[in-house]
Amino acid sequence: MKLRYAALALMLGALPAAAEFPERAITLVIPFAAGGSTDVVGRIVADRMGADLGTQVVVENVGGAGGSLGAGNVALAEPDGYTILMGTVATHALNPLILQQKPYDPVADFAPVSLLVVVPNVLAVNPELPVNTVQELIDLAKSDPTALAYASSGNGTPLHLSGELFKSMAGVEIEHVPYKGSGPALTDVLGNQVPIIFDNLPSASGHISSGKLRALGVTTAERAPSFPDVPTIAETIPGYETYTWNALFAPAGTPPEVIERLAAAAKAAMADPAVVERMADFSATIVASGPEELAEHVKAEMAKWEPVVKDANVRMD
Ligand code: GLU
Repeated sequence: MKLRYAALALMLGALPAAAEFPERAITLVIPFAAGGSTDVVGRIVADRMGADLGTQVVVENVGGAGGSLGAGNVALAEPDGYTILMGTVATHALNPLILQQKPYDPVADFAPVSLLVVVPNVLAVNPELPVNTVQELIDLAKSDPTALAYASSGNGTPLHLSGELFKSMAGVEIEHVPYKGSGPALTDVLGNQVPIIFDNLPSASGHISSGKLRALGVTTAERAPSFPDVPTIAETIPGYETYTWNALFAPAGTPPEVIERLAAAAKAAMADPAVVERMADFSATIVASGPEELAEHVKAEMAKWEPVVKDANVRMD
């Protein structure tokens, strides 16, 4: 009898303390519609992370409420690493500052995994709109304050902030038309239902290169290396700056060893030469940080954007 227990103890000792992660497919929630920047970046990263983890990373688009719908779903998901979020400056800094309904706490409800990339935004117009520069757009808006409208990826997103900051710094009125992500916003601007868009470069870059959109200016302090001929908005409106970023988050309470495994897979994905090349096309700066750096980044971004949101008087539409 004793011998039997001893054998059993030996067998149990040989088993790993916790089952290996991952044992099945992982769901990556994209909190915006397909075709937007978060979707474009998310699918590239999901594919490479899946290869590193030896399982599928399945993308699920849950758009709406400026990204807070999808982010809220992940905050409530089982904290086991099998449901993770492609967060952005929208879900983890701007939504809580702008939206009236706050379905989650961006710090308390999430376990940060990795800050993947920082991404420029761009002001672009349908080529039918007779403006070629930021100044010409300002002049047109001033000549007829009711004539223009801009599309964004939704209330509480960096593209909404980009538009409102532009309006307040240039002293113009332009109507805001929010969508469930820049994917559907782009569709309407390409079809000229709305003449202007603030978009992220990953989703806009192909349309700019093909001439279906005319880029007037990037929102970053420096020009985007992949579009050196497009000026910055700050060249016309000094001090103007916005950007977005993409980062992976798991629900709070996810075991640290699972977070570490996901962060390692993210780092490997961002070092893949094909991923590096794609990110360079978008002028997206690769960070591929660890969890602690992302936690610090979220706090710093919330503090950075609070006065900007207030000064630009960003409200819900
Ligand atoms: N990237 C979002 C989209 O895919 C827009 C908001 C953001 O940049 O965070 O539509």
